Amino acid sequence: MAGASAPTPCVFCEIARNSTSTPLLHFDDKVVAFQDIRPSAFRHYLVIPVDHIPTVKDLQRREEDYSLVSHMLNVGQTLLRQDAPQSSQYRFGFHQPPLNSVDHLHLHCLVLPFIPRQRD
Ligand SMILES: [Zn+2]
Ligand SMILES: [Zn+2]
Repeated sequence: MAGASAPTPCVFCEIARNSTSTPLLHFDDKVVAFQDIRPSAFRHYLVIPVDHIPTVKDLQRREEDYSLVSHMLNVGQTLLRQDAPQSSQYRFGFHQPPLNSVDHLHLHCLVLPFIPRQRD
């Protein structure tokens, strides 16, 4: 077996450090929020922890992790309510492994209607 490989840069960690051109809709010492680059609904934001947590399976049953997740939900709800106050069709969800798109925990926050995917 080869030795330690170079760590793969994590795009969400870079966004959380605000070292990309992605505009942050919200940031604090625990989480940041930004628009999904491929929105699948009328509004589609992602809320991620600043710390690199790969998946929901890496969360632990402890106060700190419960409060992180509830904070992520609060931030997502606040953003959607600000941006689409007339809508009540909000959806929130985490990926369940192995269906991760990016291996950095992120909460999808959507306002319906969904945008149909273009196929080519
Ligand atoms: Zn990361
Ligand atoms: Zn995702």
